[in-house]
Amino acid sequence: MFAGAPPPISDTDWSAIADRLPWVRRLDADRRDRLRALAALFLHRKSITPVAGLQLDARARLTLAALCCLPLLEFGEEGLHGWSQLIVYPDAFRVNRSHVDAAGVMHEWDDELIGEAWESGPLVLSWADVEADIAEPDAGFCVAVHEMAHKIDALDGVLDGTPPLPRDWQRAWARDFQRSFDAFVARVDGGEDLPIDPYAAEAPEEFFAVCSEYHFSAPALLREVLPDVAAHLVRLYGTSPMDAASQV
Ligand SMILES: [Zn+2]
Repeated sequence: MFAGAPPPISDTDWSAIADRLPWVRRLDADRRDRLRALAALFLHRKSITPVAGLQLDARARLTLAALCCLPLLEFGEEGLHGWSQLIVYPDAFRVNRSHVDAAGVMHEWDDELIGEAWESGPLVLSWADVEADIAEPDAGFCVAVHEMAHKIDALDGVLDGTPPLPRDWQRAWARDFQRSFDAFVARVDGGEDLPIDPYAAEAPEEFFAVCSEYHFSAPALLREVLPDVAAHLVRLYGTSPMDAASQV
């Protein structure tokens, strides 16, 4: 189905992306080339579908591809397996949820979301929030990275905050993340005002996805607050392009 190499991204387009995205601009040449190849593959394999009146030109599509591939720089193209569509809303979107409880009663509610990743279904993003992340690249938010972290997490069939990793590493990861997550939840429950988004306390998988955002946008803060988690994420994602230490 995906026979042949993906069409390459032109130098002009790629330098425009590097101008626009500090995460791309600050990568060393080697990793920047790797991201370029991954982004070309992304555009080749995924259909990007703007909805609700949104229009996305080629540059916008490339922006999305580059951001979604950032977490795959070290992990590789396996991170693109298992799904085929990126749906992009102009802004935060409402989804209708339903759940039948143990007593057989159906509960329904609406959620407002800026991104969503189904286990083997589409990845969904709000374009306005992607642009807000780009406008403030060191604010601790990157919705494309968040949703891609869920995709990587789900590759082994369970969305639990632990991606598929070599066995020894996975064991250390599960231990360190669980301990950090439990301590984080205790601090949030204790009413402490933390510099990391308390949404991370929702569930282990959200903890992983939210910390992934900090890895790419506020790595020094993550290292300070959650050093064990930060170290695992450096191993998974490589040094953050936003890390001051990498700019010397
Ligand atoms: Zn999430």
